[in-house]
Amino acid sequence: MNPCAEYAPLIAERASGPIDPGEAARVARHLDACDACRAEAVRVGELLDRARVPAAGETEEREAAALPRRLAAAARRPLPAPPSPDSRLMLTSRRLRAPGRTW
Ligand SMILES: [Zn+2]
Repeated sequence: MNPCAEYAPLIAERASGPIDPGEAARVARHLDACDACRAEAVRVGELLDRARVPAAGETEEREAAALPRRLAAAARRPLPAPPSPDSRLMLTSRRLRAPGRTW
């Protein structure tokens, strides 16, 4: 059974957030009287529940809290040694000989 065309959009809107209180009351009164729209309200509610992202769990919270400390530790770690001047020179000359260069 399809929900009433007049109420279907309101039911969807109401399920995803607060709507105008007058409209909400009107929808609520209608849902009391209309089985099709009541079923639609349940269906839309279930759909939105399924689409909702679960709240962060304890592990995620702990990892998020530790992130600044881990970033700071990573920043203090010494950088890998820069390549020796020789290898940098080779890299540059190889790049200069790259195909497509016209000068
Ligand atoms: Zn209805």
